[in-house]
Amino acid sequence: MPDDKRALDYLRQFGYLPDEVALDSPQGPAAVRACQAMALLPATGAVDAETEKVFARPRCGFPDRQGALEAGIGTFVAFGTVWDHAVITYRVNNLSRDLGPERQRALIETAWSRWSSVVPLVFRETGEQPDIEILFDAQAHGDDFPFDGAGGVLAHAFFPPPNAGALAGDAHFDEDETWQEGFGAQGFDLLTVMVHEFGHSLGLAHTSVPSSTMNPFYPTPSVPAADDRAGIRSIYRRHIWVASLYRDILGRRFDDGGLNGWVQGLFSGASPQDVARGFCYSEEHSGQIATDLYFALLDRAPDEAGLAGWRSQLQQGMGRQSAIVAFLDSAEYRGKHPADDAFIDSLYRRLLGRPPDAGGFDFWSQRMRDGMPRFEVARGFVLSEEYCRNHSRDLYQRFLRRQPDAAGWQDWTDQLMRGLNHQDALIGFVASPEYQTAVEGWW
Ligand SMILES: [Zn+2]
Ligand SMILES: [Zn+2]
Repeated sequence: MPDDKRALDYLRQFGYLPDEVALDSPQGPAAVRACQAMALLPATGAVDAETEKVFARPRCGFPDRQGALEAGIGTFVAFGTVWDHAVITYRVNNLSRDLGPERQRALIETAWSRWSSVVPLVFRETGEQPDIEILFDAQAHGDDFPFDGAGGVLAHAFFPPPNAGALAGDAHFDEDETWQEGFGAQGFDLLTVMVHEFGHSLGLAHTSVPSSTMNPFYPTPSVPAADDRAGIRSIYRRHIWVASLYRDILGRRFDDGGLNGWVQGLFSGASPQDVARGFCYSEEHSGQIATDLYFALLDRAPDEAGLAGWRSQLQQGMGRQSAIVAFLDSAEYRGKHPADDAFIDSLYRRLLGRPPDAGGFDFWSQRMRDGMPRFEVARGFVLSEEYCRNHSRDLYQRFLRRQPDAAGWQDWTDQLMRGLNHQDALIGFVASPEYQTAVEGWW
């Protein structure tokens, strides 16, 4: 029967039925049901008139199911491969004859930006050997998936490596289609199809969610929907984590080269602790800590030589707390607070953020009369329970964006009181599973 032949071809082409299995086999109805679910039809398992209409809908040529990969009914599907770097290069091998070249290049850039606005990836055109090749071709064009003339399959694209060998990431568009900008009876909106295909190039498979970019049937939204965004974030969670270290530790947006290098490091075996250590003891972060201490403790901007000295010591492993003690023990600080009582008063205000209480003030005042040197008094403040409790609460709020839980708060307080470097505490927070998971939702 001709209709059965059409159904059989479709179910095989899009991965619902293995090649050697017949439609009237026991697997047949299940395959039809899966296809109907993808097209949001009642899953009857019988090829009825509505189902036959599905076979004629313009769509992506990529199978809805591949191997063990289930079609995404109600949710995104990640294929399972991911680009192991962040600056991803593409080459435009040729363009369609249907639209001006300038317009097409602009559309390609726009399509990439729809994904780079969701995850920290950088797309860069190159003339060299690229990660991703983009081309327009018709019928058989050198891979195992010949195009089919006007209508039907519009385009296809390959998942990131190691999938598909040299084709990994590549996006092919059927030149037998009429490509246009916008919607109309004449042809297909190139941007819509590109955003969908690039989703495959980045690792997303098809979903049945009708409002999603990764739904196989044209037209799909050219702005990734919630389902697509959750999917691409889950694939690029390690990229997001590195980009979040730029935001949360260095207080700035990532630079492309830096992001790319750290992501590559993570994928080639560096642990999150290694990467976090690289950030926390970096020249940049060490310089920021030192600069902040000049303003907070000496009430002035750093001088160049002084800053360079502190930065280098912090980079080599000096804890921020030790630097604080050294600042407070400096001749400059002594000059500002020559009297011991004024020195003690200043420690309460600058380190604990409050005026001294009478009991505490008398305690330290007596110690200094007994000969305790200033650096030891300063150290007593920095290692005090009050200072360390405040400090660890700040870390919870800054990195986990929540109030501390009692057990965790106590543990970090204890560690800081025992002399744990501030920078090592930062590493502990950003390398924690809680932070790594949370930043995916904050990006
Ligand atoms: Zn597709
Ligand atoms: Zn192809």
